Amino acid sequence: MLSSFLTKLFLVGAASHGDLSEESRQADKIRYRTFFEESSEAIFMITREGKIIDVNPVMSDLFGYTREEMIMSGFQSIYARPEDYHKFQREIEQNGEIKDYEVTFRKKDGTEMVCLVTSRVHQRHGEDTLEYQGIIRNVTGQKQTEEELRRSRSQLLQTLAELKKAQNQVIQQERLSALGTMASGIAHDFNNALSPILSFSEVMMRYPEILDDKEKVARFIKMINTAAKDATSIVSRLREFYRQREAGEIFFPVDLNQLVEEIISLTQPKWETQQLANGITINIETDLGRIPAIAGNEAELREVLTNLVFNAVEAMPENGTLTFRTRTDGNQAVLEVCDTGVGMTEEVRERCLEPFFSTKGRYGTGLGLAVLFGIIQRHDGTVDIESKPGQGTTFSIHLPTMVDMSTESRIQESGTPVQPLRVLLVDDEPLVRQAVAEYLIIDGHTVETATNGREGLEKFHAGWFDIVVSDWAMPEMTGDQLAAAIKQVAPNKPVILITGFGDWTHTDEELPEGVDCIVTKPIIWSALQEALASVKRCERPQKVE
Ligand code: ADP
Ligand code: MG
Repeated sequence: MLSSFLTKLFLVGAASHGDLSEESRQADKIRYRTFFEESSEAIFMITREGKIIDVNPVMSDLFGYTREEMIMSGFQSIYARPEDYHKFQREIEQNGEIKDYEVTFRKKDGTEMVCLVTSRVHQRHGEDTLEYQGIIRNVTGQKQTEEELRRSRSQLLQTLAELKKAQNQVIQQERLSALGTMASGIAHDFNNALSPILSFSEVMMRYPEILDDKEKVARFIKMINTAAKDATSIVSRLREFYRQREAGEIFFPVDLNQLVEEIISLTQPKWETQQLANGITINIETDLGRIPAIAGNEAELREVLTNLVFNAVEAMPENGTLTFRTRTDGNQAVLEVCDTGVGMTEEVRERCLEPFFSTKGRYGTGLGLAVLFGIIQRHDGTVDIESKPGQGTTFSIHLPTMVDMSTESRIQESGTPVQPLRVLLVDDEPLVRQAVAEYLIIDGHTVETATNGREGLEKFHAGWFDIVVSDWAMPEMTGDQLAAAIKQVAPNKPVILITGFGDWTHTDEELPEGVDCIVTKPIIWSALQEALASVKRCERPQKVE
């Protein structure tokens, strides 16, 4: 904007030098003068040496001098640091013009101001000497605002950093207090377990004659042993709720309905004892829907159900009903365990999943639901609790169903029998390797295993195999690299890749080079059978060289 203004100014100035009649030249001069005098910009004209030729009223007002005072003084003298004038001069001489060049000037009253100078070298008509014409814009306010913005931004950043620090401290304190709760719970349970160990051993040490009573000693030792086992189980239970799902941990299809039936028989002693002891009746009801299998660890899920049943029975000191329901909700299976017991207050409901939180005093460990929560989290599931004092409790557990259950029906339909094959199985996870090898051996195949890609390739070169089944993610040489290496020497050798749950979302056309089929974890037996059958079906005839 400034430069377009300057252009206009110079055009008016230039027009006054044109080859025009004296009359029109005079008219132009007047126009030029009016423009100069009335402009809202601060305009100056100086010689190359810095002597001020003329300034307009805005310029003299800006500096607080009269026009005459300014003309008397040099341009250099209004610089806050006069030596900077030479830099300005060098710049403008180099390019013939400067635009928005920052200069700090000093006003008559001594205050400094930051300005942007836009200027051009100009030659007056009929004269040899050059002069600079230009405008000055005071940006001190803008600069101050920028400075303030910068300052407040850095203050904000500092406050943010302090907030983050405070937040971390709060989290740390929360952790410490949770740790404290846990430690005191562990201490309590351990002391309970240690008491009989100490007491019985002490009695035997103090009264050695007891050792002659074999029956008594046997009883004492049995109690010591039981107490020690209890202590061990505290440790293993602790491990349960902080344990993360291990990489390569295999989940198998679990039928929740079948699990419910199993749990009802397994926990029968618990609710029957209660019935017998208190003369009360606990009804068991089931409402089991048609649900697909979920991928899981059956023993862990059994523990989840056991804990729920125990809590429900303990919450029904009088007659009550325990109901098991299963249903689907989208691609999730829902298992509900519902009792008509004492229920929970809001505070208990919120805290009941915490490790060592119990309202049962010395009868409770407070670990049942914490373990349950850990297990459900490892299964990518969620737990919802609905409860009101006196109105019973419902635990709803949502678990993702197996992604492709159609595989099983497909294999049954196609029923492709696969001839016994020599399989090279490559996987760095011992558990997965064992499980897959087991599947293959039961199906009548011969299996050679390798623990990584490199070993797999060596074994492939050394032996003769119909097919290669390999894990994808492995250190050193990944499954797809192994597949590519195998295809270089044996282009028709089928290679099946096993990959982690959800890793593979692409379509068949996008299979990595050298890979014929992908099987996702958790590996369902039928999916592996189908994969073997399909690659054998598609196998191209061997090229005869
Ligand atoms: P514990 O049973 O050893 O106390 P849990 O972790 O199994 O520990 O349960 C924690 C607490 O949650 C219990 O002490 C109880 O207050 C509450 N709770 C759990 N299940 C129920 C239920 N079905 N009805 C009422 N309260 C329950
Ligand atoms: Mg419990």
